[in-house]
Amino acid sequence: MKVIKIGGGCLKDGQAANLIVELIAKRGKGDIFVLSAFYGVTDILISGIERALESEENIALIINTLRTRHNHIIKKLIQEDIPKKQLSKSLGDVYKKLERYYYGINFTREATPRMQDMIATFGERISAIVLAKTLVTRGVDSSFVLPEELGIISDGKFTDASVVMDKTRKNLGVWMARHYGPQKILFVPGFYGVSEEGDITTFGRGGSDYSAAVVAAAAGASVLEIWKDTQGFMTADPDNIPQCKLIPELTYEEAAELAYTGAGILHPRTVEPVRKEGINIAIKNTYDPDALGSLITQTGITTPTIVKSVSYTRDVAVLKIHASGVGARHGILSQITERLAADGINIKSVVTSQTCISLLLSRKDIEKGHKSIQEIEPSPYRKSTVICDVALVSIVGEGLHQNRGIAAKCFTAVSNANVNIEMISFGTSNAALYFLVQERSLDRTIQALHSIFFDG
Ligand code: ASP
Ligand code: MG
Repeated sequence: MKVIKIGGGCLKDGQAANLIVELIAKRGKGDIFVLSAFYGVTDILISGIERALESEENIALIINTLRTRHNHIIKKLIQEDIPKKQLSKSLGDVYKKLERYYYGINFTREATPRMQDMIATFGERISAIVLAKTLVTRGVDSSFVLPEELGIISDGKFTDASVVMDKTRKNLGVWMARHYGPQKILFVPGFYGVSEEGDITTFGRGGSDYSAAVVAAAAGASVLEIWKDTQGFMTADPDNIPQCKLIPELTYEEAAELAYTGAGILHPRTVEPVRKEGINIAIKNTYDPDALGSLITQTGITTPTIVKSVSYTRDVAVLKIHASGVGARHGILSQITERLAADGINIKSVVTSQTCISLLLSRKDIEKGHKSIQEIEPSPYRKSTVICDVALVSIVGEGLHQNRGIAAKCFTAVSNANVNIEMISFGTSNAALYFLVQERSLDRTIQALHSIFFDG
């Protein structure tokens, strides 16, 4: 049995959804499909929270926008009157429930994390109902089950939950023993789980990849397929490098590194659950379903240049903490990181020297992060500064540390492109080398690197 994740990009409109439904009917018997919301729906749901706080009148507008968007899609998927009416009745109940949550927010003047997460999951709840009903209407045996019914148990951390794997595996096993059928198609809404206290918690934006990996691991799937509207992992971002190529095979480590540095193909935590079970991940293009795509395995294959991809993210800023003898003093780093953690700020990476600690944060966190460490009393450091106009570049390839000359090749190319390197992090992962450049030098850097590793 396969577990297949269908991304929101494949569910852009009625036509795209229809293509997916045909593909599922043809290839999906006995498989479990983990779904994203229809394209753009999660954004509407989340922005609706602010709008509901602003004014009660906005609530009807939000619900209307959602209803219209889904109706457009349904019109393309189902023509028959009776099933269309049945579907619109079940969705009517869902909208009513959602409406109540928005009214709750408006009434209490407060959007608690619990409420925000609950609301955010409605896109996935709806897409599962719609696709299952469409297939049934076309004579295919299919149904959906909610994560809270399956028992996908989370640690309860709102907006960024992780799954408690052993409990989830047990629950899923029990459910499957009762309900699974090799001729059936089963849909599961992605993006969220339920805590042991019964709270609905999401896995962060893009989290249905992670949901699918969890289900694949818990169900012992033969493979995890991620269906997308793109080919797979590429040697660079096609927006910067039009001649970039598909990477046919990657290791778990390489895929995880590329997920973190913003290739946008996978949610960063997708690799975790399947890696432990040795389940491969196949990225498949729904517009070319027989193409090979990218395959992620334990061993991957190494290419002669070792380097598989050049990647970057602009979502980075540096918090520099200056203090003499950082490397020889106890506790500074822990004081700072504990403080940031307490304020809910994620640290992407840390580089330290004897006189300075540099923390890489997301840009959205940098102001808050800076304030938060300024409040530590007594201050354990001399001075703190913030740098924003940088980008993080990475070259990714398993074994690049063991192979002589790759770093030299990389930095020579960057220097020949007249780019100054701001900071380097080398050696933490076996599959990546990171450095910071000025944001305005980013394009030049990526071009120089791609050309030295892939055009030669
Ligand atoms: N629908 C959610 C989001 O847009 C989760 C997902 O699509 O993976 O972030
Ligand atoms: Mg996604």
